[in-house]
Amino acid sequence: MRDNLKHYINGEWVESTGSQTMEVMNPATEEVMGHISAGTKEDLDKAVKAARSAFPSFAQTSREYRIELLEKIADEYTKRKDELIEVMTEELGAPLKVSENVHFMMGYSHFKQAAEELRNFSFSEKREKSTIMKEPIGVSGLITPWNFPTNQTSTKIASAFAAGSTVVLKPAEITPYAAMILAEIFEAAGLPKGVFNLVNGTGQEVGNAISSHPDIDFVSYTGSGIAGSKVMENAAKDIKKVALELGGKSPLIVLDDADIKEAAGIAVSNITMNTGQVCTAATRVLVPKNMKASFEAEMKEQVAQLAVGDPQQDNQIGPLVAKKQQDRVQSYIQKGIDEGATVLAGGTGNPEGVSKGYFAKPTVFTDVSNDMTIAQEEIFGPVTTIITYESLDDAIEIANDTVYGLAGYVAGKDPEALRKAATGIRAGQITVNAAPSDYSAPFGGFKQSGIGREWGDFGIEEYLEPKAIMGMPE
Ligand code: NAD
Repeated sequence: MRDNLKHYINGEWVESTGSQTMEVMNPATEEVMGHISAGTKEDLDKAVKAARSAFPSFAQTSREYRIELLEKIADEYTKRKDELIEVMTEELGAPLKVSENVHFMMGYSHFKQAAEELRNFSFSEKREKSTIMKEPIGVSGLITPWNFPTNQTSTKIASAFAAGSTVVLKPAEITPYAAMILAEIFEAAGLPKGVFNLVNGTGQEVGNAISSHPDIDFVSYTGSGIAGSKVMENAAKDIKKVALELGGKSPLIVLDDADIKEAAGIAVSNITMNTGQVCTAATRVLVPKNMKASFEAEMKEQVAQLAVGDPQQDNQIGPLVAKKQQDRVQSYIQKGIDEGATVLAGGTGNPEGVSKGYFAKPTVFTDVSNDMTIAQEEIFGPVTTIITYESLDDAIEIANDTVYGLAGYVAGKDPEALRKAATGIRAGQITVNAAPSDYSAPFGGFKQSGIGREWGDFGIEEYLEPKAIMGMPE
């Protein structure tokens, strides 16, 4: 049991002011793996007070101090590698290799990248008649989801620390333990007391308390659109700045000169990665009408080779994070069938040979039209859809026929067509032919996918306020 009923406030693990606890489940075994406290408004108040009193001196720290701090954090994070991998496989159900190569590495990369950005970051510049300064925004309330326990926490925290802002974090109650290890990492790296605070609990209690707290200056939220909208509503009452990273229904445009094997590989990796629980996942695969049959055959073959099962073993796909998530994914698969799409691979029920854990079969729907529910709503599981198109203009129109705009993908050869598709998709991040991700590039969405950007210098900007001074003496 990984029971830890304390919150981390002002550099110490402290008892909760409430008595309620929450179970944390291992989604592969369906067993309780530990308990955490359901934090209260009073706990949150204490954390905000600590962050507020640590702010003036942390805001005054030098660039050099903060670069060194971020480097030390990256070192201490590396020392906890085995534990972080183990805990993320247990709480999230990510296969061990995914916990190591994706989750562990993403957290590490954000601390390193923030240190790197800071070396050349401009906190002050001269304009025609003014000096522009960028000052830390203050106390930042961070609310994170369960699908990337170290990535989403680390990108927000690293940017806040780089900017000189202090933090109160509420990690997802479904996957709280990796974030609790982060608190120990920061302590070992010598972070001053009160700069980082962590209160566990529900979105209803602690999440709402963060978004409506009068002494929090900025809320950075990642998760569902419904909760994101609630955060914005609460924050509006006292004109609090918000950054929101919400959902997506991202397109992959397969061009007519694409290598079918490679393009199908991209489509399949998008539902394999993190069991499809990825906000940027390409879940609408747009294929030229005349390629439909050969693309379907390739997808069927590749999906049949996927190893689904125990995340402690050498499988590519583990369970979904929770029973609620499993029910949601299964009901979307049923909805696709009910709406008349054809199941090319997978379908409802458990994968073959799996009897325990919150699993779903990797599922590919074809004969999908873009107005079907499975093409419009975020499923957040290993489910994708094949939609055919007539021309590239038609493909771009379908790609943009969504309320979301988080990511987009293009596969093919002709540079002009690749450019046209990449610039034509209205989304915050486009990947051409499986190009590697870039931690210095901004991450965030157009339309209902959110407001603001994370990662790199764009991420640091969110935790700063620009100030213009006219007539500043030399
Ligand atoms: P959620 O949005 O409810 O949870 C994410 C975080 O928000 C958690 O820390 C949660 O406690 C908190 N939260 C919930 N209600 C809140 C509120 N009113 N105020 C402040 N914080 C609140 O997500 P979920 O219910 O676990 O998942 C539902 C769906 O959300 C998923 O199926 C998926 O479609 C989407 N989702 C998206 C992302 C993403 O990265 N964009 C991540 C997780 C979930």
